[in-house]
Amino acid sequence: MIPYWEEELETLPRKKLEDLQADRLRNTIARAMQSEHYRKLYESKGISPDSIKSIEDIQKLPFTTKQDLRDNFPYGLLATPKKDCVRLHSSSGTTGTPTVIFHNQHDLDSWANLVARSLYSTGIRDTDVFQNMSGYGLFTGGLGFQYGIERLGALSIPAAAGNSIRQIKLMRDYGTTAAHAIPSYLGYLFEVFESEGLDPKKDTQLKHMIIGAEPHTDDTRKRIEELFGVKAFNSFGLSEMNGPGVAFECEHQTGLHVWEDAFVAEIVNPQTLEPVPDGEIGELVMTTLDRQSMPVIRYRTRDLTRFIPVKCPCGRTHRMIDRITGRSDDMFIIKGCNVFPMQIEGVLMKIPEVGNDYRITLETINKNDIISVEVEMKKGTFKGDLEELNKLARRITHDIRDEILVKPEVKLVENNSLPKSAGKAVRVFDNRIKS
Ligand code: ADP
Ligand code: ZN
Repeated sequence: MIPYWEEELETLPRKKLEDLQADRLRNTIARAMQSEHYRKLYESKGISPDSIKSIEDIQKLPFTTKQDLRDNFPYGLLATPKKDCVRLHSSSGTTGTPTVIFHNQHDLDSWANLVARSLYSTGIRDTDVFQNMSGYGLFTGGLGFQYGIERLGALSIPAAAGNSIRQIKLMRDYGTTAAHAIPSYLGYLFEVFESEGLDPKKDTQLKHMIIGAEPHTDDTRKRIEELFGVKAFNSFGLSEMNGPGVAFECEHQTGLHVWEDAFVAEIVNPQTLEPVPDGEIGELVMTTLDRQSMPVIRYRTRDLTRFIPVKCPCGRTHRMIDRITGRSDDMFIIKGCNVFPMQIEGVLMKIPEVGNDYRITLETINKNDIISVEVEMKKGTFKGDLEELNKLARRITHDIRDEILVKPEVKLVENNSLPKSAGKAVRVFDNRIKS
């Protein structure tokens, strides 16, 4: 079986890949300068396509931030006439006002191809039945995967998000073999399977699960693989870089290959904005290389990751990034300690009695900042055995304290009792009194 969607591009020797990037970056700058924002910015700094001799010269260019996109809302970064655009998408607005991205037909074709290439790299083929359990509409996970899977040629089921009973029925009626969903939803979906008296391992034909759009730990992935009897592949993307199809795990699950013919990925220290040494964690900065309507150059994603400095056995030459540990703005500070929600998820998902959902609340009690963690239990865990439950709560408290250096209040709650959000999971509720 041919392992690549586009062998020549996916295995291009590094030097050639970097030359291609430099070429495409020059084109991208020329195009971007058709937009009001980049024209003014680059002219004021004397930047032109000729400023790029090799791909390292990208470091001479200023960054683009979410604020720049907001300040130029809606059309200030448009580099082609509006009449040439055929679709817009906007971010889900997890962290404030949404930002909008415009696409012409070329952009949509190029995006669909990247998603097809990504799915193919996980082993999905045109013989698969692919169910997309992602919100359709402005959110890119719906149409992004839809056009990609059609390009690949598998049979697609545009199931959209929610309505779990119907998701299960679709899977069983049509023999779904591959599916895409956000990881926090899959924990819940499994519980619906259980309450219907079904076991996805026996009662479906699922083999491939594509999970992404929100941070999750490797243990969460392993749980999904065990619960559903699948291999689960991490998919990373963001609206500003189209959406899905930016970086994807291949069959080897070694890391997420960034499609470097279509994007430049850099990792910088978020304070100094200088590149970090290979292998160190920093903020991911991304540039589009094949988008015409709205090129975005050196976009500060606020996502934290690192380059994985090894070669993947698959033979692809495109570098890999590690799973995203979180957004720089997910971090909260409690009693002077910096904490990422994924540190807590990391502890919880290692404990077999713990279910698939949790919630972190920060509050001020008697002028004291408190962190409490509500943790769902697996179905039927220690039914009524208070002593065992207390023991477990103490163990979780201890493990979290070891990880974040602050002692949390741990509350064990019934399976499937925490409120579920319609889209990406909201993990932290900060109700502290700000002094
Ligand atoms: P919003 O910023 O409103 O959530 P997007 O839908 O564009 O809008 O989401 C992109 C963001 O989602 C990324 O910047 C990243 O923070 C997160 N994300 C996407 N895929 C992953 C993934 N596989 N792992 C962790 N985080 C992810
Ligand atoms: Zn690989």
